[in-house]
Amino acid sequence: MRPRRWFAILVCLCCLVTAAWPAEVKGENKKKERLAVVTVDRVNVRQGPGVPYRPLANVHRGETYRLIDIKDGWLKIEWKKNKIGWIAASYAAPVREMEIVQEDRLRLRQEPGLDGRIIGHLAQGDQVIVIKEKGEWKQIVTKKAVGWVAASYLADAESPTGSRQTGVVTADSLNVRVAPSLDAERIGRLLHGERVEIVETKRDWYKIVTRSGLGGWVAAEYIEMKNGQAVGNQEEAVAESASPAAVDLVTIQGNGPRQYVKKWTRTPVQVLAGKTIVLDAGHGGKDGGAESVNGVTEKTLTMETAERLKEKLETYGARVVLTRVNDDYVPLSARVATARLYQADAFISLHYDSAEDEDASGITAYYYDRFADYGLAQSFQGPFSKLSALPFRGLAFGNYYVLRENERPSVLLELGYLSNRSDAEVVATDSYQETVTTAIVNAVRHYFQ
Ligand SMILES: [Zn+2]
Repeated sequence: MRPRRWFAILVCLCCLVTAAWPAEVKGENKKKERLAVVTVDRVNVRQGPGVPYRPLANVHRGETYRLIDIKDGWLKIEWKKNKIGWIAASYAAPVREMEIVQEDRLRLRQEPGLDGRIIGHLAQGDQVIVIKEKGEWKQIVTKKAVGWVAASYLADAESPTGSRQTGVVTADSLNVRVAPSLDAERIGRLLHGERVEIVETKRDWYKIVTRSGLGGWVAAEYIEMKNGQAVGNQEEAVAESASPAAVDLVTIQGNGPRQYVKKWTRTPVQVLAGKTIVLDAGHGGKDGGAESVNGVTEKTLTMETAERLKEKLETYGARVVLTRVNDDYVPLSARVATARLYQADAFISLHYDSAEDEDASGITAYYYDRFADYGLAQSFQGPFSKLSALPFRGLAFGNYYVLRENERPSVLLELGYLSNRSDAEVVATDSYQETVTTAIVNAVRHYFQ
């Protein structure tokens, strides 16, 4: 498959333009929105400012809500989108700022000062909500506790408004648009369960930033807010539900500074358990694809690569589905349908390149969707860069049917040029097939870890 260079260049220009805008998010929304954080384990939200009023819901420690008014010892908050209620002021506090813990095992104390009783520890990277300051000390709220920490171990969370929140996508697939409107251009999509940072709210839309730093607008109704604390990764979630002893940190003995590692590292065998990977051996049947000067066809090579990959991925516990198992002609639409049918966690299309320039050489990883696909494509950067057999040409936008029409995270890999005499010899060797499939497996593991 030959990439359409001119189109790629045009898209790259567009990327440059759009890549610039998430930066302006910071300056755009200076208007400070007041937030209140819940300081007790659980408290009722009531219909009015007083105990006789009917309870509407429960809110919990560490959760933040938009603060609308303060009246007679009660806080008026927006406890759910467009739902207003009241909580007793003694069970919540106005948020001063959000900060990030800069040191592992940071001591949380009951009172400010080194004499204060230690009531817990915070981990480096934890997001905390500051509600009070006293000298060099700050009173903070997390999901688990309220306490004091030395201010010098905290740093500003990036948000200038102090109101950045994390959310999780609840729809199967959620469009990301350039502006807060259904008519606005779609620039990507998010998948169910994906975590985003919410940087701005406008009517029923959220302006979000993904972990890879890409931004855009999404319909707010499909984002579930994770109030207060940043959402942890899966390991942390598992750790929280385990017994306290099991989640404690292990000290590694050594001469250098003490290091702490998390105990619950998973064994390699399980890393891809529960993941479905659809492998798409490019071309087949009447469509032979590219052909090398020494007569090797692309369709034969892609099948060989796919079969080796399947075996390796399965040893890590993945469910692997092939879009073709024989030398059959399978239409592109059927290949994409396989990804949808099996709800692929990753779709990997395998190809070998061809170009008029006989010197063109190396590997390219193509993505289409700048959200769902780019993260997957990025995982290939490291493993492919380390290959010595062929140069890695990098990640590129590719307007390929199997990517464009795919609802699942997908990449298309061009694993060497059959039009290049030297590349063609390399890719046909057993050792290349072995190392390139290992690199792909490493990329997939990296993506899911
Ligand atoms: Zn091809």
